[in-house]
Amino acid sequence: MWFTPRPAIALPVAANVPGGIALIPLGTLLDSPEPPEAWLGDRQVWVAAEDGHWIAVVGVPLDTRAGTQTLRVRTNGGERAVRFAVSEKRYAEQRIALKNSSKVTLSPEDEIRALAEIERIQALKKHWRPSTETGTDFSKPVAGRLASRFGLRRIFNGEPRAPHSGLDIAARRGTPVGAPAMGWVLAIDDYFFNGKTVFLDHGNGLLSMYCHLDRIDVKPGEPLRRGQTLGRIGATGRASGPHLHWSVVLNGTMVDPELFLKHR
Ligand SMILES: [Zn+2]
Repeated sequence: MWFTPRPAIALPVAANVPGGIALIPLGTLLDSPEPPEAWLGDRQVWVAAEDGHWIAVVGVPLDTRAGTQTLRVRTNGGERAVRFAVSEKRYAEQRIALKNSSKVTLSPEDEIRALAEIERIQALKKHWRPSTETGTDFSKPVAGRLASRFGLRRIFNGEPRAPHSGLDIAARRGTPVGAPAMGWVLAIDDYFFNGKTVFLDHGNGLLSMYCHLDRIDVKPGEPLRRGQTLGRIGATGRASGPHLHWSVVLNGTMVDPELFLKHR
């Protein structure tokens, strides 16, 4: 029996916008048999091989202004600057009126806890494990309604909050959440805002995060195959109802997970 050969890698679709992914060709494998190394600012960027070409898969931070960005690229031949354009994207806006302001303003103790956790999460986002196999053929981690998209600009009682850094998928409490692609469990934790959370490491700075889980079914360091259950849908942390908050990180920055669901 013959199987259709799969492409070596399933790259996400390109979207040269804040919160998107830029795919930047860096020459052929013949020009440079060793993979070039690339950096955006101080963050190393994943360079993938596709159809005999090196391609930098660059996560564009959500706070990037439209204009020209520069990638620093190093090959055997030396270092060069590769410029690429980022266009503007106006994400949807949601105004939310809350009667109970205690849900918006934290107590001093909660504030201290939440700030410490944000620092821990920032450190995890910088995790870099070089790998020749990066799990990119993402499938949706759980079937369900897309409740809130990446980039949504939320305004609580007239006060702008950080834009939504992930994709919310609503599903029943207890529904299994599967790894979207192969990876390793980088960390698990129970956070004030995000609740029970799993971080997966797919290699080369590609990470994914699963929040508000009712239960976590994996341990740090555990390898996961695509589709393997990592936890169950819940509403732990600050969540208005059972849903998965799913974030995807590339070169230390959150990008739109939906770009990984539509391979090019
Ligand atoms: Zn969310």
